Amino acid sequence: MLFKIKELKSEILSDPVEELTSRPDLAVERISGWCLQILDILEKIEMVLLGEEVVGENIGLKLEEECDLCKGQGKITHPDWLEYWDIYMSKKKEIEKNRPNLRWTEIDNAVKAELEKIGVTEPLDEPEEIVCPVCNGKGDVLTAHGKTLLYVLKKHWDEI
Ligand SMILES: [Zn+2]
Repeated sequence: MLFKIKELKSEILSDPVEELTSRPDLAVERISGWCLQILDILEKIEMVLLGEEVVGENIGLKLEEECDLCKGQGKITHPDWLEYWDIYMSKKKEIEKNRPNLRWTEIDNAVKAELEKIGVTEPLDEPEEIVCPVCNGKGDVLTAHGKTLLYVLKKHWDEI
């Protein structure tokens, strides 16, 4: 790109001024041509700089960040299991408070027995963990900069 600019500069400088002043129509055409070439080069420079700015980590523009829902794990507890464990934990707390001398397995059995009485059982039909629906299992999601870059890439994909 720098080579192109140097080439263009030498072309502009080598053109005799007299020729341009004596032929105004030619001068307009030539100068318009140079302007277009310069604009084209500037656009390319801008695109390269923008690309470096977006990708460059040194200025802190992150393209992706940790997924809020799964905290980067890519998977989450199935909602049915989440609901089950919520009820389980509150019942466990209640039993531990009322019967402090029970051992862990006794507490677990007592909790399960109490839950069965109110019709709450482990949702065994569902897997305990599922792929995170927000990040599709990647653990990371795009930031605003990442989305912008993706949008631009999709739009101009045929030019690559
Ligand atoms: Zn996620």
